[in-house]
Amino acid sequence: MSAPTTARWTPGERLAGRAPLPDAPEGAPVVGVLALQGDVLEHLRALRRCGALATEVRTAAGLAQVDALVLPGGESTTIGKLLERFELMQPIRDRIAAGMPTFGTCAGMILLSDELEQDRPQPLIGGLHVRTRRNAYGRQLDSFDTRIEVAGIDGGPMDVAFIRAPRVEQVLADEVEVLAEVEGFPVIVRQDRLLAAAFHPEVTGDDRLHAAFVASVLPATL
Ligand code: GLN
Repeated sequence: MSAPTTARWTPGERLAGRAPLPDAPEGAPVVGVLALQGDVLEHLRALRRCGALATEVRTAAGLAQVDALVLPGGESTTIGKLLERFELMQPIRDRIAAGMPTFGTCAGMILLSDELEQDRPQPLIGGLHVRTRRNAYGRQLDSFDTRIEVAGIDGGPMDVAFIRAPRVEQVLADEVEVLAEVEGFPVIVRQDRLLAAAFHPEVTGDDRLHAAFVASVLPATL
């Protein structure tokens, strides 16, 4: 299979010239974005474009206010340590166990994974029954944009950005559905109310995965 690379980019170039944030409609689901480190603002914008009331989460009290949570890309070791320092690790695990829809992207996918393909331990939220390899495509300069077909997402392939991205090396339970692959490895997986993507869906302006996540939140809040 050919390499997935279709375009290279300069960090920050996609942020230029963005439209102001739209207001959330009445009765919109409240979706938190974990805001300890990483790519928070672009997720807030994408969620708002999809009709959610999106808000930053930094504390257990903030977590209690949201119907669903996005774990953004960033540096999973840093985010994991901050989750412990801010006493958010166990509260997030408890909410996930209670069925809170949770969407992890890139570092967020790493944090949701039950296991990592590495010897050095790092703090993980866990719950998603996969073994994940960090930096599976190489270093920062090996970041790439590509288009992928996603099961259940209509309208043609999605335009996505892989930034020092992980990938799922092994699915550990039957309940994990693989929604997309690159080079034969899963890059989007779903397990009940958990959704995880190896890439950054929030920087390309293709909001279909966020829209599907926001739509999935509604039944839990009715
Ligand atoms: N390489 C980062 C990590 O291991 C993830 C990169 C990202 O989130 N864009 O945490």
